[in-house]
Amino acid sequence: MICAKPGEDRRYHLVALLLQQRSQPVPRSSRLPSAVNQDERRHGEEFNRLKYLLALALAPVCRRYWKVSEQFQNDIMKTTISLSSPAQLETESLVAIVLDHTDQTQKDQTQKDKNKDAKPQLKLATGDPAVQSAAADLLASGELTGKPFEINLLHKPGGLKAKRLLLIGGGAAKKFATYDLRRIAGAAVRTLKARGIRSFAFIAPPSISAEEAVSAIVEGALVGNFDADYYRSDRKDQKIDALTILAAGNQAALEKAANEAQVIGESQNFTRDLVNEPSNRMTPTILGDRAKKMCQEVGLKCEVYGADKIKELKMGAFWGVAQGSDEPPALIVMKYEPAGAPEKPVLGLVGKGITFDTGGISIKPADGMEKMKYDMAGGATMIGAMRAIALLKPKVKVIGIVCATENMPSGKAQKPGDVQIAMSGKSIEIINTDAEGRLVLADGLVYARQLGCTHLVDAATLTGAVVVALGYANAGIFANDDAMYERFHKANEEAGEKMWRLPLDDEYKDNIKSSIADIVNSGGRWGGAINAAMFLKEFAEDTPWIHLDIAGTAWMEDQKPWIAKGPSGIALRSLVEFVKSFAN
Ligand SMILES: [Zn+2]
Repeated sequence: MICAKPGEDRRYHLVALLLQQRSQPVPRSSRLPSAVNQDERRHGEEFNRLKYLLALALAPVCRRYWKVSEQFQNDIMKTTISLSSPAQLETESLVAIVLDHTDQTQKDQTQKDKNKDAKPQLKLATGDPAVQSAAADLLASGELTGKPFEINLLHKPGGLKAKRLLLIGGGAAKKFATYDLRRIAGAAVRTLKARGIRSFAFIAPPSISAEEAVSAIVEGALVGNFDADYYRSDRKDQKIDALTILAAGNQAALEKAANEAQVIGESQNFTRDLVNEPSNRMTPTILGDRAKKMCQEVGLKCEVYGADKIKELKMGAFWGVAQGSDEPPALIVMKYEPAGAPEKPVLGLVGKGITFDTGGISIKPADGMEKMKYDMAGGATMIGAMRAIALLKPKVKVIGIVCATENMPSGKAQKPGDVQIAMSGKSIEIINTDAEGRLVLADGLVYARQLGCTHLVDAATLTGAVVVALGYANAGIFANDDAMYERFHKANEEAGEKMWRLPLDDEYKDNIKSSIADIVNSGGRWGGAINAAMFLKEFAEDTPWIHLDIAGTAWMEDQKPWIAKGPSGIALRSLVEFVKSFAN
């Protein structure tokens, strides 16, 4: 496979294209008949030479057809901690947060008085008097509201060595928290990189503990640095290369926080990178290769199994989905077994890796189907989480399992009414072939238990129903164990990711009863996300288990000030925090 990064020397591209041409077999239709005479052979060679020349000439317009490098440049950002005074720092831009200190009761009073001219009490979130005074006129002007993500850029700010001072609104000072800081750091990156600026310094707000602030700023900045436009021939090479964080505290502790946050942010972007690739460039085989390569880089054991192993393990539910596709499936198993970790617990992270979901024979409508390349986001999240875990080295065993396949309609595809026997021996009546995620996960969960996992978490873009229930703001979370849920919820809050628990009451079990088999794979429309989770519960059995339905949160439908439109990488940070909680 040939790799070429946009922005690399064009000669590289030409060579890449030529090699690519050479390595591809000539299609049967354009092959010369075997009994050609010398003249025809010479003409054939001449034709080939012309073809290469044509490739050379067309190279500049063909850029979009080249495979984009596996290590995309989105996430390379150097982070430095500085304890120096913001006013003295030479930088392309300083970034400070504007907070509204207006008293809420005062505000209500002003509204009652209909005094619309009353100005909000705006202050910069920094203790540095020189920075305060550089922005004093603007803050006093009444032109700013201080609302979240309000942007103002001052050039040559008086009294500062920085070339620019970027002010970003943070909303009410009383409500301002780490969650907001992460997003504001992302917004700073997106604002500055769009102006061609490649480095800046962010003033950590003193209201949040310095280590927590540093983590949030690094994570948020990395999220903001990602853009999805890989295959645009006019893709601009806009990114932040270097971030300095101005904070007060112990330099070593702050650097440790920054390094850990960098691992997490880069891993999140690694996941987004996988999800962003279209399905013709992210087949189950390619996903397996990418996982293997990552595991080699960070020192994880990794096995990628094909159809033979899936059949040998009697994963009838997984194979039922995979059988319809010409692309071979991949069962990806990544193992993190640090020296000195106790025998138990063994955490199992199981991801849905449908690299494209057509719905199968129960085919989806054409409208919006292109988004179904994202249906491997749960699997990509687990691969990214394993990367972060391997680099952060918590003392706890973790096994990551991704069941990767396409879901295609074909003459070999499973049909509604078919009965499949899952790895656990349970029989499943296929009501809807589009409810395939739970089928591959069912066998993934059972396999994880067979490998010795004592605690399970799965992540999947599982149901449209979870989007109906919770919209795009919260992922759905399900648990068969309250202690496990509490632990995950805590990790959620620390990671600044929003998830909402949905019920798994026994009453819902009626929805997945079958008259021919043990269960059906689709419990119908009402409570669809819960029915799917009830199905998975049958395979987690009594192992403590969390199910994350990230169908509404894995993909940003629109760009936001802090994040590009496209894959979000959401759930990764929570998963890493959750795993770390077992090592404490
Ligand atoms: Zn589906």
